[in-house]
Amino acid sequence: MTEERHFVDVAAVDSTIRPGDNFFMRVNGTWYDTAKIADDQVGVGSYSFLNIPQKQLLENILEEVSASPEHPKGSIEQKVGDFYASGMDTAAINARGYSPVQPILDQIVQIQSIPDLETFLASEIKTNNQSLIGMRVSPDDQNSTINIIHLSQTGLGLPDRDYYFKTDESTLDIQKAYQTYLTTLFELTGSSAADAEKAATTVYGIEKNLAESHKTRIERRVVKENYHKVAVADLDKDHTQINWSSIFENVGLKADSLDIRQPAYYEKLDKMLATVPLEDWKTYLKAHTLSSYANFLSSPFEKASFEYSKVVSGQSKQLTRAQEMVQQVDRQIGFDLGQLYVKRYFNEDAKQRVLDLVNNLQKSFENRINELDWMSDSTKTQAKEKLYSITKKIGYPDKWREYKVRIDRDSYFENVVELRKDAAKYQLDKFGKAPDKTEWGTTPSTVTAYYNPSLNEIVFPAGILQYPYFDQNADDAINYGGIGMVIGHELTHAFDDQGAQFDKDGNLKNWWTAEDYEKFKAKTQQLIERYDTFTVLDSVHVKGAMTIGENTADNGGIYIAYDAFKMTDQGKGNTPIDGYTPDQRFCYSIARIWRVKTRDEFMRTYVNTNSHSPAMWRVNGPLMNFEPFYSAYDLQPTDQNYKPESERIKIW
Ligand SMILES: [Zn+2]
Repeated sequence: MTEERHFVDVAAVDSTIRPGDNFFMRVNGTWYDTAKIADDQVGVGSYSFLNIPQKQLLENILEEVSASPEHPKGSIEQKVGDFYASGMDTAAINARGYSPVQPILDQIVQIQSIPDLETFLASEIKTNNQSLIGMRVSPDDQNSTINIIHLSQTGLGLPDRDYYFKTDESTLDIQKAYQTYLTTLFELTGSSAADAEKAATTVYGIEKNLAESHKTRIERRVVKENYHKVAVADLDKDHTQINWSSIFENVGLKADSLDIRQPAYYEKLDKMLATVPLEDWKTYLKAHTLSSYANFLSSPFEKASFEYSKVVSGQSKQLTRAQEMVQQVDRQIGFDLGQLYVKRYFNEDAKQRVLDLVNNLQKSFENRINELDWMSDSTKTQAKEKLYSITKKIGYPDKWREYKVRIDRDSYFENVVELRKDAAKYQLDKFGKAPDKTEWGTTPSTVTAYYNPSLNEIVFPAGILQYPYFDQNADDAINYGGIGMVIGHELTHAFDDQGAQFDKDGNLKNWWTAEDYEKFKAKTQQLIERYDTFTVLDSVHVKGAMTIGENTADNGGIYIAYDAFKMTDQGKGNTPIDGYTPDQRFCYSIARIWRVKTRDEFMRTYVNTNSHSPAMWRVNGPLMNFEPFYSAYDLQPTDQNYKPESERIKIW
């Protein structure tokens, strides 16, 4: 006999809070007041923090497969198990100190000219360890049928360009922690304290200089201003120091043209290569190399890296070694691990149920497009065509990514290098080919979902197909307010400030009438201004312009999911379950799926760097524009989040 499940967590509800004052806290308040964030975590709850219990499942798999050294060489179990085992052998890792990275440091010492330095940068590309050049191979924004080279701004060690220029106390703390980290890396590799400090200052100075040329996160949202197709020969003419032809030859690519997303960065880099002494560049490269490999070296390196991240995230204790290794296995050879995960933990029936949900939501989105009063018929036709061209990926890939690597049980560092080389080769091999439409950008066990404009696809990995997002036994209100909301959100991304710039085939092409696009922009502007008013921590506000894509998706997603829910039997009726009406349960589910509690340090970094609004505003923000919420919970004009009808913003 199975116990009856209740999908509303009554014990978590804080009934002293009026729904219209703060629905996130109404639903989650009692939980929030008592939830404890573990010392080795930056938060607790759903969404990305649901990855914590997921990682325990992965740890169980890894413990089991690594226990046997008998798996056939090259099998998934052998690669995954031995990689994990090699990383768990901290005695062997500590005994080697930093000797594994010494050959790379020696290469840096031998650099005697700018061409030498560029040869080194090419070798970094081949080991997927890029420092000054940010290169990727992916579809051409103007022609999504072919993969080309994209160069993006890069070169920094702090989380974002703004961190070099802001002067508030918490940013100053992060700057200082970063410089201490760099100093420690130099000290650990033989520099005197004074020399190490000087070297760290040099590195920081170069980064700050580069950061001046960086576009902000908001500037990077305008896709066409971050796309510049140029001939490699012209780029070679423009840049006096960087020899692109030779770099591409070194990495084995015959490219005539490429997309340089942020030209200002490369102009700056080119100028700096002519003026900054070569020895300083070598110091920079040494720091970058050590920092990039610190987690795979002996414990003093790993600790130094953690001390820095601690200040950025607020996490006070390091993960257990096993959990650290789960993260590394998932990051470096995650689709192999994903195969083992799916076999054990994924319910195939969920795939069809979720596909049905997606199809229902597509229909409800179509209806909403038909009814829009601000969009012309010709744009509507294009929008619907785009909507029905969206590819749906659910659970796990049809075709698994293969890792052509040799993994040994006793050499962790070399395993990492082998996997990084494979990742680089996988990237570079795409060049000049049509994009692989079966490819996945996230591993199946991850609790996430995404929309990819260049393939016009939505992706829901197995990890997110679990409660509170989805449960086979839950009523429709819970599932539509849960995974339904997420599906609606991802569908809307095809039509947010960025998605709207791409057509149904993933090309950067305008398919709007000028008038419609102006109206659309005016509506998103309203949303930007609304979110700018939301407070997160004391003086910290949501950045409306940086999060506009996600906020548009949250505001559209809720309506699309609700309309689809209203087509179900439960949605048509009014039968309460556990005292909650269908509409109340739908709204409840939205507040439940974003239930998280995080550390302040983490939240500060999040608000400055993440394109999503914090959890509370992912709930309260869209709900204040959502009519059914007003009636379901009988909102009153005196409620804090009550907006008069004329101020309820609707885009989709
Ligand atoms: Zn999103």
